[in-house]
Amino acid sequence: MPLSTPAKHLFSTALLLGLSTAAFAQKTYLHCGRLLDVRAGKLLTEQTLVIENGRVQALQAGYATPGGAADKVVDLKNRTVLPGLIDCHVHVEGETSKDNFLKEFTENPGDVAYAAEAHARTTLLAGFTTVRDLGGSGINISLRNAINRGQVAGPRIFTVGKAISGTGGHMDPTNGYRLDLMGVPGPADGVANGPDQCRQAVREQYKRGADLIKIASTGGVLSVAKDGSAPQFTEEEIKAVVETARDLGLNVACHAHGAEGMKRAIRAGVTSIEHGTLMDDETIRLMKKYGTWYVPTITAGKSVADSAAKYPNYYPPLVTPKALAIGPKLQGTFGKAYKAGVKIAFGTDASVFRHGVNAMEFQYMVEAGMPALEALRAATLNAAELLGQTPNLGSLEPGKLADVVAVEGDPLQDIRTMQRVRFVMKQGVVYRQE
Ligand SMILES: [Zn+2]
Repeated sequence: MPLSTPAKHLFSTALLLGLSTAAFAQKTYLHCGRLLDVRAGKLLTEQTLVIENGRVQALQAGYATPGGAADKVVDLKNRTVLPGLIDCHVHVEGETSKDNFLKEFTENPGDVAYAAEAHARTTLLAGFTTVRDLGGSGINISLRNAINRGQVAGPRIFTVGKAISGTGGHMDPTNGYRLDLMGVPGPADGVANGPDQCRQAVREQYKRGADLIKIASTGGVLSVAKDGSAPQFTEEEIKAVVETARDLGLNVACHAHGAEGMKRAIRAGVTSIEHGTLMDDETIRLMKKYGTWYVPTITAGKSVADSAAKYPNYYPPLVTPKALAIGPKLQGTFGKAYKAGVKIAFGTDASVFRHGVNAMEFQYMVEAGMPALEALRAATLNAAELLGQTPNLGSLEPGKLADVVAVEGDPLQDIRTMQRVRFVMKQGVVYRQE
């Protein structure tokens, strides 16, 4: 989403004004023509959302008049207002391109950092005020900190730092490259074999400042390796990850395409299964039994299949057949899991496709049989619960952080309107208003 010059200007002005507003504890009154109460599942009309110190102070019926001279009113009378959106699966550092596999050798960490900052800003302006970043080099941790300090604009980030797998596994950063150039990565690089190394790998990410842990229990589509679905960790290894993470207060997100790797991870106690492409009935039963979350990433599945089909050399030769075989299956898997009653949190895998179009996922979820309200709950209430952030995020209720978006029309009638967000506030600061 390239910003025009005036929009950029508006954005930086809004950022400064917003920050000063917070500092002087003025109140902001959002006059909302329609407001979606995601918890009750009701579309309310003519509401005022009162914001103070970055949090929702009150939600009241009618258009309230500000009490203080310094208070501000924002007119959203022609909009539908919703809680800030949460994408539970992004990678802020990267973005798809034909030469992605060369970038390992052409980009310096500074290049990655500036690109990551741009991806984060694009994501925020698309209405995603919080993201769960599921893997990068560690620049994701620095970016999270810079955003939290108010130095750059972006969504609130919960990040895993570097994701973890076994040697040759989906998160081995040296797959497919010349051995003498890449060395032998170990637990500090997110490559672990055996329970002891798994424990060390978790502690390494904790030391660097990760908010949660990500592992791959099966192969993946975009790693340069033959198999995309075979198990890549033993159950004992996954248990070592989960127990160590739990001791440190961290949840574990698990990338998995094949059923066997999923079952091992679910039994070992991971918090979420990411992608879950080839889940069978037994996997679904286990997810319900263990209360495991499912983060579907349908958009990623569709876009890798598209790129592989349209451009013959978009991916390396080992990747193309996996993209074509696995990608198109995700939407069907999602529909089946939803109907079976698996807990679902919204996640896209943005980076596999370009950042900022995350809201396409809503449309794919609805196409697969999920009602629009449930899809919106997956990106608000459910995502907040998965993050352990229910007291702060996921709904527009007094005491919660003032993360607010607005769209035209009624998303319950036409979910595609979520792809054209017109207003974005994060923690009381306006980043987009049109
Ligand atoms: Zn991912």
